[in-house]
Amino acid sequence: MTLTEKILARAAGKSSVSAGDNVWVNADVLMTHDVCGPGTIGVFKREFGKNAKVWDRQKVVIIPDHYIFTADSKSNRNVDILREFVQEQSLPYFYDVIDDPKGTWKFDATRGLLKKQYGSNYAGVCHTALPQKGHTRPGEVLFGTDSHTCMAGAFNEFATGIGNTDAGFVLGTGKLLIKVPETMRFRIEGCLQPGVMAKDVILHVIGEIGFDGATYRAMQFDGPGVQSLSMDDRMTIANMAIEAGGKNGIFEFDARTQEYVDARVRLNGTRSTYTPVERDKNEKFVFEMTVDLSKLEPTVACHPDPGQRKKAKELSGIKLDRAYIGSCTGGKTSDFVEFARILRGRRVTIDTFGVPATPEIVHDLQSTRWGESTLWQILLDAGVQMTENAGCSACLGGPVDTFGRMNTPMKCISATNRNFPGRMGHKESQVFLASPATVAASAIAGRIADPREYLQ
Ligand code: SF4
Repeated sequence: MTLTEKILARAAGKSSVSAGDNVWVNADVLMTHDVCGPGTIGVFKREFGKNAKVWDRQKVVIIPDHYIFTADSKSNRNVDILREFVQEQSLPYFYDVIDDPKGTWKFDATRGLLKKQYGSNYAGVCHTALPQKGHTRPGEVLFGTDSHTCMAGAFNEFATGIGNTDAGFVLGTGKLLIKVPETMRFRIEGCLQPGVMAKDVILHVIGEIGFDGATYRAMQFDGPGVQSLSMDDRMTIANMAIEAGGKNGIFEFDARTQEYVDARVRLNGTRSTYTPVERDKNEKFVFEMTVDLSKLEPTVACHPDPGQRKKAKELSGIKLDRAYIGSCTGGKTSDFVEFARILRGRRVTIDTFGVPATPEIVHDLQSTRWGESTLWQILLDAGVQMTENAGCSACLGGPVDTFGRMNTPMKCISATNRNFPGRMGHKESQVFLASPATVAASAIAGRIADPREYLQ
């Protein structure tokens, strides 16, 4: 069996499963957020009754992160609906925007968008917060009401996005009927060269197979090159499995996975036991491809979908209006480090927005020093508009007052993960997906640029 089949077999209580089987699997974690949480709660109450209790309080994780820092009253209200449900059900894992469990959330627009407006429990973007808060464990099944839930496949688990109806059912029963996906294998070899990042790996892969090339399939990343990839790198790659239509993305378990997971469950006091899955000799793949990391170059996915792959150096004629770094995919500490490496001592020439994915990343950037300056200050000095309000922000557009949202037609290079028309705001805008290094180089040049031109 493949890694994905092994996890699904175990979660279904079977000795083996094959691609195409329909099996009931037990969920280890159900995650929801402010956009889909209220709908999921509505389905749960409608189907299981007003006084129903969730199947397992310890396995539900609720992370408001999407439409938070906006004066839109309906969006603010969604956070309150989550809080009311958490209290009713006594759920231990709720990463609220405010500290007062009896309070209501109201964003104060008069304080601006840059200074933080959240309390001590707020965790930021769900997919980045889940591992930071100790909720990703090898060998487990994670369902989330968000398509990029597949990011947790970096931790050797089966993680996939589901809709509100399915999530309401999981809340009531802890189970879901899953068709076992076929597995595509991506054997990773070599090491990334300077100026090339994990984002380039997944943009290359999607360019090879197309934005529907992995539809309802597992994307398994293994091979000797994986060892050179950090956990942040693996998260970036697994995150975008869905951009090729994948059911999930999954990595092998190794010492790096163990070190990260063990540190995080210890730090947060979450469940520390887990059983990883390992590869065996009887894997059946529907597709195999080798990716030599050392041959990859800075890569861009052009408007209007993540499969429109070009090399950054081929696009130097494309002038830009805006640059953006942030999201679960591209707003991690390591992303900002590579972004700052290019920008240090230089200035951006177009509007450039920086949105860390989580408050922990804000803290990292404000406390890590390069010489006299913090990383945060280096980015401010370069002209980047940095917000402390960690969250999804303009990655998916959001209400019109969202930080970094494109409210007029423009061209933007972005470290985010999705570029279908209208994704970051205006329907006539064009979004070019790229690594944080390529976004930084392009922000300096005012056109799409290869970051290797700026490496010191
Ligand atoms: S940062 Fe973007 S891709 Fe990630 S969860 Fe938020 S909206 Fe979705």
